[in-house]
Amino acid sequence: MGMNTQTTRSIRKGNLMDKCLCLIPDENDNCIDCGKHIDLSAFDNEPLPDLGDIVGICGLIDKTAKMYAKVKRDNADPKDPSLPRLRIVGNRMIRLSHKTLLFELMQPTFKEAKALGYKGNLERWGELVEEHLSPPTNPQL
Ligand SMILES: [Zn+2]
Repeated sequence: MGMNTQTTRSIRKGNLMDKCLCLIPDENDNCIDCGKHIDLSAFDNEPLPDLGDIVGICGLIDKTAKMYAKVKRDNADPKDPSLPRLRIVGNRMIRLSHKTLLFELMQPTFKEAKALGYKGNLERWGELVEEHLSPPTNPQL
């Protein structure tokens, strides 16, 4: 009976304590609001998420973007650079879109990126390459 009362009390107390986010430590690393000790070293020991070889992956994005920039230049129609140039495939004249060429281009570097620990899919890889080539403009800047 007495134990139940105590449990209820500590739960109530616990609920109150939970409301405190304990964000600001005093000089003794105790919460300035509720006095609970804040273990600041816990943050230092947190393992970093495994994102793979970031530097290597960024290098690959850069490499692919440069290759794509060249492919786009080479694929532009000399008469109208906004269009892909006409090429003869079989006995037909066709325009291969830049995107089609990017898709072919990014397959080998995507495999390399995977080997370096890249977690995204091929589609995202293409987006990263395109974003790298033409960074989105911020209208506020
Ligand atoms: Zn607190």
